Amino acid sequence: MMRAMRFHGKGIPLRLEWVPVPTPGPRQVLLRVHACGLCRTDLHIVDAELTDPKLPLIPGHQIVATVEAMGDGVEGFAPGDRVGVPWLGSTCNECRNCRSGRENLCEKARFTGYHIDGGFAEYAVADYRFCFPIPAGYPDRQAAPLLCAGLIGYRCLRMAGDAEHLGLYGFGAAAHILVQVARWQGRKVYAFTRPGDVKGQEFARAMGADWAGGSADLPPEPLDAAVIFAPDGALVPAALRATAKGGTVVCGGIHMSEIPAFPYELLWGERVVRSVANLTRADGEEFLALAPQVPVRTEVAAFALEEANEALNALRNGAFNGAAVIVVRDTD
Ligand SMILES: [Zn+2]
Ligand SMILES: [Zn+2]
Repeated sequence: MMRAMRFHGKGIPLRLEWVPVPTPGPRQVLLRVHACGLCRTDLHIVDAELTDPKLPLIPGHQIVATVEAMGDGVEGFAPGDRVGVPWLGSTCNECRNCRSGRENLCEKARFTGYHIDGGFAEYAVADYRFCFPIPAGYPDRQAAPLLCAGLIGYRCLRMAGDAEHLGLYGFGAAAHILVQVARWQGRKVYAFTRPGDVKGQEFARAMGADWAGGSADLPPEPLDAAVIFAPDGALVPAALRATAKGGTVVCGGIHMSEIPAFPYELLWGERVVRSVANLTRADGEEFLALAPQVPVRTEVAAFALEEANEALNALRNGAFNGAAVIVVRDTD
């Protein structure tokens, strides 16, 4: 048996429960969880803004773990290997999107900590084909936020093209990683927080932002691209207002409140608004190879497994800088 924090439905806090250790099926690895990052998507799940979770569910999709056992057909992994499990848990390999290099858009994709039990537990199983080796040199808890905040943040950055002046709206786990990558790539970074969030703006500057201000402020230079991580639809017209002609506004979250109507002139001038959905395994391989080169450092607030509800609340309230991580097995 193992301890797990399980979700039973909207409005019910996660419950610490004893459940059987899962058995790895074909092509699955059994993982001993060391750390699991929290993500705003976890809040969207427990708040039922994402409506299709398995129930009961073990949330958590930024798992750092070691391989404990393997089912039939697993290749390239051995017991003791340290691996990361991301949001993308499996794909069909057959649909139009899978066959055209867009497995992030697979019609039958299944996601970790949503359709598949995740990492808020002592053990988990995962399809080995969707696990990544974790770069050496990252302690478990520092590596965990790379697996979603880092990976999907990196995909958002790619969609920003060669933008020299880059805006980041919402300075949480993803932005605090992305600012380091973007600066390393030679871009100028402008961080936007909730109006009046002086501490958040100080943190953004400490992490390398060239400028930080409130989300209603205009940056000193028009943006060539903006990435919105905060789930507030009103940020779309705000970011368009700050963006130069031909610029792109990328919405990086899986859920956003309704986008208010705005005048066409904000979009005029070939500005583009787009979303980024999920990740491909190629994103993961590329980003995890890049992170140690930068090197990306993560600022982590650690919580014990039984404190998962407190961790979710802290995330909801913006009570820490950087990323929250559940440390299941303290190895650091
Ligand atoms: Zn996530
Ligand atoms: Zn597919």
